[in-house]
Amino acid sequence: MAKAAVTVIGLGEMGRALADALVTAGHPTTVWNRSAAKADDLVARGAVRAATVEEAVLAGPLVLVCLLDDDIARATLRPAADALRGRTLVNLTNGTPAQAREAESWAADHGAAYLDGGIMAIPSTIATPEAFVLYSGRKADFAAHRETLEVLGAARYLGADTGMAPLYDLALLSAMDMMFEGFFHSVALATSHGDGDAAGFTELLVPWLTSMLRLLPTLAADVDSDADADAEPVFAQGLDVVLAGARNMARASRDAGVRADHFERSAAALEEQLAEGLTTYTAPGVVRRLRTSG
Ligand code: NDP
Repeated sequence: MAKAAVTVIGLGEMGRALADALVTAGHPTTVWNRSAAKADDLVARGAVRAATVEEAVLAGPLVLVCLLDDDIARATLRPAADALRGRTLVNLTNGTPAQAREAESWAADHGAAYLDGGIMAIPSTIATPEAFVLYSGRKADFAAHRETLEVLGAARYLGADTGMAPLYDLALLSAMDMMFEGFFHSVALATSHGDGDAAGFTELLVPWLTSMLRLLPTLAADVDSDADADAEPVFAQGLDVVLAGARNMARASRDAGVRADHFERSAAALEEQLAEGLTTYTAPGVVRRLRTSG
């Protein structure tokens, strides 16, 4: 059966990987990018280079957009707004839930269906079993294009509220970002003096973090049962123990000439909680505080 035609607007690192996957899977693929030369390799492999965004949009029923940010995506699509009528726009540009909802309403004003997407992959893992992409928007629109979208990576549908894919995308990215921050801090501390190097230290860090990751489902279940007054969190530590650890991490960082601000803030927050009479550190307690601290 003939594969569906797809348009890809934006041929940065990610857009090129998406278009490449579609060409490889045999989809007639039309591409557009501000710097037209970035399409050269794709055109050599069978993609069609559109001269304008409008021409690109008119080439097929499914238009994927992967640009630097929401403002650029909107400005790029604006001149082709009328051409979008009757098509499905899938915005894979990283953005916020509010931006996704605004874009959906803009697309609806121009007669287009809209799905928002969050790519949980890097360009080299697109179209591999490691990649998954979050989608939200009208279920029928997702179902109509699911087969094509699965080419990019496993397609995970999160519901009709268009804001869900960017919400989960940014939540997943926030965990990744803090993990990398933690990694960089630990490397700065571990290599601050002595003979150790980052590679040797990382051989200890990876099994340690892997073992800690196994705790997450337990913490998540504790958070989910927070509304149940009778539920006791499975994971609980004394606040004083957690505070002593935070103070030691702050002190050791300062002694080593490494920035200690994260642990100083943690210690100050824990001191505040102890002063309020709290004694236990639990996952629901931490999440509740984050939700209310603005
Ligand atoms: P790149 O910087 O490689 O590409 C940026 C794209 O935006 C290019 O197509 C560029 O065009 C275009 N662009 C930038 N400024 C303008 C402008 N003023 N007018 C028109 N076009 C413009 O970024 P990526 O491809 O890596 O990222 C694209 C999106 O994908 C982002 O939202 C990113 O968060 C998301 N993403 C990226 C991942 C990654 O690992 N790279 C992972 C997951 C999501 P030109 O080529 O002409 O400069």
